[in-house]
Amino acid sequence: MSRVAPQRIVVIGAGIVGASLAYHLAAKGAQVTVVEAGGIASGVTGTSFAWINTSCAGTDPIAALRGAAIAAWRRLEVQVPGLTVRWHGALSYGTQDGRVSPSCILIERARISQLEPHLRQPPQQAIHEPQQGALDAVAATHALLTAARALGATVRTHTPVLGFIVQDGRVTGVETATGVLEADVIVLAAGTGTAALAQKLGASLPIHASPAIFLRYQAPRGLVRGIISSHAMEVRQDEDGTLLAAEDYVDDAPENQPAAIAQRTASAIREELAGAEALAPAFACIGLRPMPFDGVPIIGYLPTVKGVYVCAMHPGVVLAAIVGQLASEEIVDGQPASALEACRTARFLA
Ligand SMILES: Cc1cc2nc3c(=O)[nH]c(=O)nc-3n(C[C@H](O)[C@H](O)[C@H](O)COP(=O)(O)OP(=O)(O)OC[C@H]3O[C@@H](n4cnc5c(N)ncnc54)[C@H](O)[C@@H]3O)c2cc1C
Repeated sequence: MSRVAPQRIVVIGAGIVGASLAYHLAAKGAQVTVVEAGGIASGVTGTSFAWINTSCAGTDPIAALRGAAIAAWRRLEVQVPGLTVRWHGALSYGTQDGRVSPSCILIERARISQLEPHLRQPPQQAIHEPQQGALDAVAATHALLTAARALGATVRTHTPVLGFIVQDGRVTGVETATGVLEADVIVLAAGTGTAALAQKLGASLPIHASPAIFLRYQAPRGLVRGIISSHAMEVRQDEDGTLLAAEDYVDDAPENQPAAIAQRTASAIREELAGAEALAPAFACIGLRPMPFDGVPIIGYLPTVKGVYVCAMHPGVVLAAIVGQLASEEIVDGQPASALEACRTARFLA
């Protein structure tokens, strides 16, 4: 009986998106190699607020993807040892960004105080998203790659991809400093590095590096129970007391450097939360998010060279699980996913 050899698939990038792709592809029997320029989760995944926030303002071209994102993470929690999401819900008020999801509930001050008893001045009303959660994006990336390895995948860190081997219009391998890796399919999941890799294949993909500020504090345990997103702060807290915050990037001025923003945000948090007096900045940096120019993920095969599949998106933590599932079905089973139609590369390359 003849056997079809498994597809050899090289995934470029060991962030949360590449890790999810690697796990799903390996689970489908592909022979997967992950190639990463730095260490695991050394890209923007390492400094993500990692809120699984499925709400959206206005018309949403990827409503089907966002709508399936929570279920996809819940499925991975069952399948992948060590992968956990804290489904503690999220409260939003005063942000005026108009974000809603089908599951959001408008709640009053008394209920807000029950959910977040440390808020000094709970608002009259807030939007509560009880189904939402957050994860440790670094730990989740490691868990996904460990599960992929258990299914036969190989992970090569500190191995930048330098170029591609293309024969008769089809990619046959990637070039690294330590040699060529042969492949039937290559997945570009290189975050902000994706555009430069696609350019080497003759494709101009408009993905810019969108800065955001990531902040970590030492704080007394139990200050924040879920996620609080307000005009004053966007925070959540780990069980060990570590408090995480995300802030908008303003500019390069000295007063807007990450360390200065960490101090300002700490003052704001102390004003908002009783018991936060001892809050101490522990880490602050700028993270660069891979942001397609039209805000819609770029997912699917390149039309310029056969065998190259692109996965570049924001919000990558929200979407990593569902995209890993659907993209692996497209790549291994040849089963196109209608939920990915708005994301195709052809909208930029036609
Ligand atoms: C402050 C902040 C808050 C955020 N909050 C949220 C949130 O609440 N929810 C959410 O969903 N998203 C959030 N994000 C965005 C989210 O972190 C990203 O969308 C997601 O991590 C992107 O993952 P990725 O795997 O595509 O990219 P990355 O993590 O950057 O991974 C890409 C990897 O590819 C590697 N690479 C690049 N070029 C090459 C090459 N030539 N060869 C080999 N390897 C290469 C890089 O080294 C990198 O490790 C936030 C981001 C920031 C900065």
